[in-house]
Amino acid sequence: MTGLVVHGCNQLVVGPANEPDGGPGEGDGATVLETIDDGAVAIDDGEILAIGDSDTVCREYPPENADRAIDATGKLVTPGFVDPHTHALFAGDRSEEFVARIEGTTYTEIMAAGGGIPVTVEAVREASDGTLLENLLAQLDVMLAHGTTTAEVKSGYGLDTETELRMLDVIARADERHPVDLIPTFMGGHGVPDGMETDSYVESVVSEQLPAVADQGIAEFCDVFCEEGVFDVEQSRRILEAGQEYGLDAKIHAEEFSHIGGAQLAADLGAVSADHLLQATESDAAALATAGVTPVLLPATAFALGEAYADPSPHLAADAPVALGSDLNPSCYVHNMGLVVSLACLRMGMHPATALLGATANAARAISRTDGTGMSRTGTLRTGTLRTGTAGDLVVFDHPDYLHLPYNVGSNRVETVVKEGRVVHRNTSAPRSQNGGDTR
Ligand code: ZN
Repeated sequence: MTGLVVHGCNQLVVGPANEPDGGPGEGDGATVLETIDDGAVAIDDGEILAIGDSDTVCREYPPENADRAIDATGKLVTPGFVDPHTHALFAGDRSEEFVARIEGTTYTEIMAAGGGIPVTVEAVREASDGTLLENLLAQLDVMLAHGTTTAEVKSGYGLDTETELRMLDVIARADERHPVDLIPTFMGGHGVPDGMETDSYVESVVSEQLPAVADQGIAEFCDVFCEEGVFDVEQSRRILEAGQEYGLDAKIHAEEFSHIGGAQLAADLGAVSADHLLQATESDAAALATAGVTPVLLPATAFALGEAYADPSPHLAADAPVALGSDLNPSCYVHNMGLVVSLACLRMGMHPATALLGATANAARAISRTDGTGMSRTGTLRTGTLRTGTAGDLVVFDHPDYLHLPYNVGSNRVETVVKEGRVVHRNTSAPRSQNGGDTR
C-alpha cells in the first residue's frame, strides 16, 4: 500500500538538472531545472518511492490502491519551499517603524534612534514561553499556507543567556508541534544589548551564552550580524570560531549595509552560508564559491527597507548555488517565498528556473539538508528536490508551469501542501478547477 500518489501533474519540478553528478546550480536559464510533463510522484513512509511520467508511476503504484491520491491535472507541482533565513520568532509590534520608513527614515537611522532590534528584544524578554510559542506557530501557519515546508529560525532577540535559551527551546517545541520542519540557529550575536560595550558583550556570548547553548543541544548553527556599528570582522570571527568549537556550523549576515569583510570571513571559516551580500564584490563571490559557502540572497529585505538589491550575477558566474530566503522579521514582514521568487526575477534579474532552485534545492544546501558528512555544496539533498529517497515535501499550485509562479506576483496560488507524504494544508478558498483536487 502506497501512502500518497500525486498524478497527472501538468508540470512536475524535480530539482537541479545536473544533480547529483554535476553539482548544483550550473547552466543558464531553464536548463538548470529538471521538469517532467504529465508527471507523478508516489510517496510512502515520508519518502519518495517513485517519480516519473504519470503512466509509468501509476502502473507501479496505482492511485486507487493508495491511502490518498491527488489528481493534479493542469497543475504545477514543486518541491516544498525551503526558507533558509528567518527571524520568525518574535514578540511586540513595530508597525510604527513601518510608517517611519515610509516617511523616509532609513533602517540605519531607526537603529541609531534606539528602534529596530532592541524594541523586539525588550518584547521577547517580557513575553512568556507560551506567548512566544503561540507567536511562532502562528507565523508557521502562514508560511505553510504559502508553500514553505522547511524553515530556519534564529534566536537573537534575547541577547542574554536565559532568553536565548528560551527562544531555542520554543523553536524546538514548535518544531515538534508543527508540520514545518524547523532548523534552529543561535544568534546571540544579533545586536549589542543597551548599556553594554560591544567587546564585553562578545565576551559574554563566547564564555556564557555559547557554552549554555551547546549544553542545551538544540541549535545547529551559530550566526552573527557582521556590520558596521554592530560586530566588526574580528568580533564576528571570535563568535563564529567559538561556535564552531562547540560544533555549531557558521552562518553570517555579511555585507548588507556596508562592506567590511564579512564575506571573506565566511570563506575563511568555511561557513555554511553567507547571507544578504548586497555590498559583496566579485572577489567576495569568488572566495565564497571556492570555499563552498552558499550565498543566501534576501530580496524581500531590500523590498521592505527600500534598499538596493543584491546582485546574483557574480555568484552565478562562479557557479555558486544561489539560495533565496524571506528574512521574515519585524522589519520585513514577508512569509511568502513565492513573492521572494518574484522579486528575485523582477528586481535581481534571476531566471525563474534559477530563482525556484534558490527557494528549494539551493536553500536546502544553505541549511545543510544533505546526506553524508561532506560540504553542504556537494552532499545529496534530503529535501528541496523530488527524487527517489528524498523527503515527500511538495506543493500543488494552481499554475500550469513554474514560469507562472513568479509571473503571478504576491498572490497565493497554493492549493495543497504535502509534508513527508502527509497533506498538511489545503487552501479551501482556492478557485476550484474542474479537474484539480483529491480523487479520493
Ligand atoms: Zn537576518
